[in-house]
Amino acid sequence: MKTGYLIDMDGVIYRENQLIPGAREFVEALIASGAPFVFLTNNSSPTPEDLSVRLGHLGVPGFSPRHFYTSALNTADFLSETHPICTVFVIGEGGLLTALHERKIASDAINPSYVVVGEGAVSMEKLAKAHSCIEGGARLLATNPDNWCPISARDTRPGAGSTAAFLEASTGRRAYYLGKPNGYMFHRARRKLAEMVGGMPDQIVVIGDTMETDIRGAIEAGLQAYLVLSGSTSIEQVADYVYQPTRVLSSVADLIDEIKSGKPSSRLDSPVYSNGFARNNRVGRRHQTDAEHPAKRRPRAPMTR
Ligand SMILES: [Mg+2]
Repeated sequence: MKTGYLIDMDGVIYRENQLIPGAREFVEALIASGAPFVFLTNNSSPTPEDLSVRLGHLGVPGFSPRHFYTSALNTADFLSETHPICTVFVIGEGGLLTALHERKIASDAINPSYVVVGEGAVSMEKLAKAHSCIEGGARLLATNPDNWCPISARDTRPGAGSTAAFLEASTGRRAYYLGKPNGYMFHRARRKLAEMVGGMPDQIVVIGDTMETDIRGAIEAGLQAYLVLSGSTSIEQVADYVYQPTRVLSSVADLIDEIKSGKPSSRLDSPVYSNGFARNNRVGRRHQTDAEHPAKRRPRAPMTR
């Protein structure tokens, strides 16, 4: 059976500018096996070339840009497919600007069809301009829904989701969020895998560390969803979610042997399917959307008198 892989980067391949132990061997095993794979990231700042250089500095050189698919590329693909003659006012960095430029989508600060929000490059001036464009009729599009992104084990930075949320609040309009878990991201990533090998693989495995984006998107797209615990999710949190990963792995290092041998292992199947785990650990209600997910509960404000 031919398997293709869609692999998240932060928390899966590296963390805080350090390769996760076993990640290099995992990638080398993948390349040796001939399996098609694409790195899939919600970060809209870098270009595929930037990501290739970054992996090279971390000790995994030699990737071509076709091995990367970012939420910026997904946004440009979405616009060029659904509205090719549109114009855009962009709040974002190089990866987003380059992707839109390559799809020949013109910038327009006067009467754009869309305000496109990506990572970074925010200023009050740009927000005010975007606000007035939206009030003038532009639609609001964000490259990804992440409100914050980790920059180290302790620190975070604001993400595209929080910039879009600002504009949602100021204009009363809702943004459309591309990137994971949006099905369009997985649809285009699958097509990319198929182009690599001249046909759709028999099965596609998504490997990620975040339940709300990687695992949810994979499940909703009908793909295999492998959660690794080397990033943002701990095993205790897994059972809180209605959707469950197909497998839970400590890191991609767990996959090296089976990729080399071509024989999938079942020993690391999701523990929530084993006896007792789910009942004993599940907190909160089922059938919630992530926006009101019980794991994201905020403490209630104290009562006022
Ligand atoms: Mg990640």
